Amino acid sequence: MHKIKNIKYFLLDMDGTIYLDTTLIDGTMDFLNELEKQNKRAIYITNNSSKAVAQYIEKLQSLNIETTEDDFCTSANALVHNLKKEKEGAKIFLLGTPSLENYIVESGFELVKDYYTEEDKRPDYVVMGFDTTLTYEKLRIACDYINDGVAYVATHPDMVCPVGVGRSIPDAGAFMELIAAATGRRPSMIAGKPNPLIIEMVMEKENCSKDEIAVIGDRLNTDVLCAINAGVMSICVLTGETTKELLETSDVKPDYVFDSIKDVYEIIKE
Ligand SMILES: [Mg+2]
Repeated sequence: MHKIKNIKYFLLDMDGTIYLDTTLIDGTMDFLNELEKQNKRAIYITNNSSKAVAQYIEKLQSLNIETTEDDFCTSANALVHNLKKEKEGAKIFLLGTPSLENYIVESGFELVKDYYTEEDKRPDYVVMGFDTTLTYEKLRIACDYINDGVAYVATHPDMVCPVGVGRSIPDAGAFMELIAAATGRRPSMIAGKPNPLIIEMVMEKENCSKDEIAVIGDRLNTDVLCAINAGVMSICVLTGETTKELLETSDVKPDYVFDSIKDVYEIIKE
């Protein structure tokens, strides 16, 4: 029997794996229906911290996929999970969208919005997210605090975010390069893929073991590496970023490679 048949939890990357922009990838619906039939779980994992989970639920709904909040784990979830363990209620200077701001506040943290020299007003962390509302003022204050030695962490390392076929926009990783050039410092912790934190969180939440989990994704350096770092099965699909040429030259070797999620469906179907 194929080892993939034993997997109970499929952690799915979204863009490039189950859809491309606004188009569902062929085989996705069959795959998801088959999981439901077999009482197995699909959990959507994403590094994009500019969108709240509610926005992903809406996005998947527009593709006729019904989900609830429990079906997602984002880099923002992993970051908050980690910071709560380190310092509950910490003060945070955030480079992030209003939806990330809301999530941070709802999670019990306090947002610092300005530069202060008074010790009791200063943040415990500068947090870098995917800030599509970034301003020069926010950058300047972040650099000031980072230069002062305030702890600096980030949601995810992606340099660009795909926005439609063949196009991309600067993402958190690119902003980190800017800050590194200006301050000489890089985040001490980056919560998103390839950090295994997202997978460890899912394991805690679902109370499952490593051999029950597989990650399906289109990117070697995030999705596949994340699975390798967590010690779970990695499945790479060639419907997104990774090409056969890239696979040959990369040091990151997935357990399985398929043309698309449709091939995974063909293996798991009963
Ligand atoms: Mg992807």
